[in-house]
Amino acid sequence: MAKIGFIGLGNMGGPMAINLISKGHQLKVFDLVAANVQALVDAGATRAASAGEAAREVEAVVTMLPAGKHVREVYTGAGGVIASAAKGTLFIDSSTIDVDSARAVAEAAKAKGFDMVDAPVSGGVAAAAAGTLTFMVGGSDQGFARAKPILEGMGKAIIHAGGSGTGQAAKICNNMILGITMIATCEAFALAEKLGLDHQKLFDISSKASGQTWSLTSYCPVPGPVPTSPANRDYKPGFAATMMLKDLRLAQEAAAAAGAATPLGHHAMELYEQFEKSGHGGTDFSGIIKMLRG
Ligand code: NAD
Repeated sequence: MAKIGFIGLGNMGGPMAINLISKGHQLKVFDLVAANVQALVDAGATRAASAGEAAREVEAVVTMLPAGKHVREVYTGAGGVIASAAKGTLFIDSSTIDVDSARAVAEAAKAKGFDMVDAPVSGGVAAAAAGTLTFMVGGSDQGFARAKPILEGMGKAIIHAGGSGTGQAAKICNNMILGITMIATCEAFALAEKLGLDHQKLFDISSKASGQTWSLTSYCPVPGPVPTSPANRDYKPGFAATMMLKDLRLAQEAAAAAGAATPLGHHAMELYEQFEKSGHGGTDFSGIIKMLRG
């Protein structure tokens, strides 16, 4: 069992940290929100007064922060993780952030002799609490081998995607597929309604035909065919539209930087922007069918 510094104890980081404690790891925790720290202290963690302190005298640091700028600040800022950690400490960033920030921070860590992996997750708050997240890991073979036993305390599938930044690349490529196929599935149901084709019939046919996607068969955007999908509870998330928009924006940022053509990814981002602007950022992302019906 390891001594681990955990920074970022929000909706995801909080339950992930609790799972590490329940697996027998010793945690030193920090968050800007005092109540988030207190909840972990109540669960058996030690309180740290800063990110730097959480990174001192531990074998590994795990971060679960909102965006690239927070990750850069926490690792490379004065008195931050890189400046404070003992030689040999492993760094694991599980936040969903832009590929450039992930690579820049990993480079800065490497320059000081530290192993660092980007390890964003698939699965929401429920999977974080259940310890069933999927981790997509970017980094060296050595970094992956060291991170795996820690990530196994929080997830069910730990996949090595390649070198530094490829965990983030996998996450945004996957979610770009998801955003696009969800819109396609919603458009098909909206068209079927206008053509007098029953929801269940379209589901029965397309789920066995070439229109089959995860968006249709696991997360159907109309009530009925898949009882667990958010459509059955008036599109309460699930996976909020704002979060999908964040990932689609990261995909567009990466595509622009890499010179990749992603016209449908771009249009999906614009449609989710429109959905958010109309006051539906907190609605499940499959709720975009309401807007697409016109
Ligand atoms: P959140 O806003 O609930 O938690 C982020 C935490 O980081 C907050 O408690 C905040 O106080 C803390 N924080 C911010 N700056 C800090 C700093 N400088 N030092 C210490 N703590 C700081 O967000 P979340 O839902 O837990 O998401 C975290 C990450 O996981 C995001 O990158 C998100 O995109 C990703 N993610 C979230 C979900 C989900 O369903 N919520 C699913 C997959 C991935």
